[in-house]
Amino acid sequence: MPSTTMKPFNDVETAAVEAALKRAQTGRAAWIGPDPALHSQDAELRWVEAVLRHRLSLLTLGRPVAIRTGEDNTHPLVAGGRAFPAVALTIPFADRTLDFLATYNDDGRLTFDVVSPCHCCGKPVPTEEIDRLEDLGDYLLQARDALGGSPRFRTSPAHAAGCPARG
Ligand SMILES: [Zn+2]
Repeated sequence: MPSTTMKPFNDVETAAVEAALKRAQTGRAAWIGPDPALHSQDAELRWVEAVLRHRLSLLTLGRPVAIRTGEDNTHPLVAGGRAFPAVALTIPFADRTLDFLATYNDDGRLTFDVVSPCHCCGKPVPTEEIDRLEDLGDYLLQARDALGGSPRFRTSPAHAAGCPARG
């Protein structure tokens, strides 16, 4: 849904928006099945990347989608953790990127947040939890009420010192 204030959507964004509109119309999200399993021979970063591909249904787009994956040295992998860094994932496009942070939530489930500038301090922080392609579509359509914000937003150490959004 390109407009004068928005760049046109790329393939992934278009698929996300279509999925979000379909969910809004039918009240149901597409069935995507269980996450890929972590096998002991897999490197964990590759597994995290595979889970993001699965949750966003990227394999169904019909063309390869590149994802850059690395450690995020600002955020811990678990809330309050010190030993392991979170995982940063970036989907690069010609004119922009989609950035995600992967951490474990309080239930021990691998969770993805889209990372975007804080509305107060401008630093890149986990803004919205994205569990599936439809969530990404809602985010792109700015239907944030439907999402409710990431639980990691207020606790992120990536905010500037003294940022009032951090609580
Ligand atoms: Zn901030």
